[in-house]
Amino acid sequence: MLDDLYRELILDHYRSPRGAAPLERTDRRAEGQNPLCGDECTVSLRLDGEKVLQVGFRGRGCSISVASGSMMAGEIEGLSLAEVRRLEASVKSMLQGKGRDPSLDLGDLEALEGVARFPVRVKCALLPWTTLLEALSRKDPAGERARVTTEQAGPGPGGAAGGGGGGI
Ligand code: ZN
Repeated sequence: MLDDLYRELILDHYRSPRGAAPLERTDRRAEGQNPLCGDECTVSLRLDGEKVLQVGFRGRGCSISVASGSMMAGEIEGLSLAEVRRLEASVKSMLQGKGRDPSLDLGDLEALEGVARFPVRVKCALLPWTTLLEALSRKDPAGERARVTTEQAGPGPGGAAGGGGGGI
């Protein structure tokens, strides 16, 4: 069971996702899927050199995946690409229960810390971030779409261990 305050925050992001506004220009884009849960998302970025100017996020699926993407969109706007990668690494480490960089302020993303206790949900929460990295790794402009699935994102904690779905 996630902390009530955090659960409210997650539901708020789920109901009113950040990053829903259309981008003025799309420099990078990727789509991701989490077949285990049926989550899908699209991450679009408008960049200025090494800086993220604007983030677009469209997610469909469970509250955890949509909220994670919404929080991501809210946090990475204005960051440099190096800062984005640092944040991603810290969020991933937190979600995998390995702790996080105490010098980084995760903002609303801290609400996802409890997800680490639900192995099935970890893939949901990671999907927007995996898709973000895919978008950043692509040199192509918006026309070429990348597709990723969390199945390819490396070994998750506990694999297909069940029992994690309830309570969120
Ligand atoms: Zn999900």
